[in-house]
Amino acid sequence: NGLGIALVGLGGYAGGQLAPALQQTKNCYLAGIVTGTPAKEKIWSDKYNIPQKNIYNYETFDKIADNPDIDIVYVVLPVAMHKEYTIRAAKAGKHVICEKPMAVSSADCQEMIDACKNAGKMLSIGYRLHFEPYNMEMMRLGQQKVFGKIQKLDAKNGFVYGGDPNAWRLKKALAGGGGLMDMGVYCIQGVRYTTGEEPLTVKAREEKLRPELFKEVDETVYWEMKFPSGAIARCKSSYNANDNNLRADAENGWFELSEAYRYGGMAGATSKGKMDFPQINQQAAQMDDFANCIVQKKPTIVPGEMGLQDIKIVEAIYRSIASGKEENV
Ligand code: NAD
Repeated sequence: NGLGIALVGLGGYAGGQLAPALQQTKNCYLAGIVTGTPAKEKIWSDKYNIPQKNIYNYETFDKIADNPDIDIVYVVLPVAMHKEYTIRAAKAGKHVICEKPMAVSSADCQEMIDACKNAGKMLSIGYRLHFEPYNMEMMRLGQQKVFGKIQKLDAKNGFVYGGDPNAWRLKKALAGGGGLMDMGVYCIQGVRYTTGEEPLTVKAREEKLRPELFKEVDETVYWEMKFPSGAIARCKSSYNANDNNLRADAENGWFELSEAYRYGGMAGATSKGKMDFPQINQQAAQMDDFANCIVQKKPTIVPGEMGLQDIKIVEAIYRSIASGKEENV
């Protein structure tokens, strides 16, 4: 059954996606849980057959150092908590997968990278789309310039927030930001892996249609990024619009995902016709790859440094919103 993973934070993503995916993985399995909610201990241990010795809470978490069943700690907490649990996991001698967005600041990201490096442990970010066939096709078409040089990109990601008005996603201290941090990182990722380039500058503006809900965090952000090749990306993140799109216009054609960032039901086309790839379990592929990297002692393609770069771009976007000017990344 491979390496043992412990999930930290048993919320929507851990319960809805990661635990089910871990029933399909080949190189790793769900070995343990870390939860602050005692009622979840029994529910999860019954459902996933997790022994009592592999169940921790936030106080006992550091004892995980003595547990040989756990090889990897997967941090699935509110963003502001990613740093603390990543560093504690590394100090406990565990490899770490940390969910996106990596942390609330680039300084925090750097501390997380340093802690894992000092502990001699690998760190990866939950960037599942690097293992997803439609997105991998965007990487191939863009990076190999199959349709020539990319001139223009469009990336939009968002949903109409209808959840709890008191949820952590709406609190600056826990989320670090709003739609940009949560949904916008997919757009930043999308244009980075489609071009294979790093943006030089950003220019951004914010729009708020429901200020009573988004008191502390951004609702909708529009931004433009300029790349060294001359390509320009226009992006949008939102908690108030249903968008899910990644498109590149190149010299000799275009390629686009009209369902770009979801867990399944991916769809895309190019100027030559419809894309047709298998729909896979992205989280299973992502976790299996990381476990394989650990065993084979090879670097992950979604390392902490990639998460750090996205947060640097996010910070430049927030600086641009504040200044009203183009900002360097
Ligand atoms: P969630 O609110 O459903 O779950 C968060 C969990 O953290 C809950 O179990 C909650 O009890 C726990 N928690 C511990 N301390 C808390 C505190 N002080 N305040 C609030 N909750 C606390 O959130 P989620 O949607 O599961 O998101 C968790 C992480 O996973 C985030 O970083 C999010 O961006 C990421 N995520 C990634 C994807 C993806 O596709 N990669 C999808 C969804 C979420």
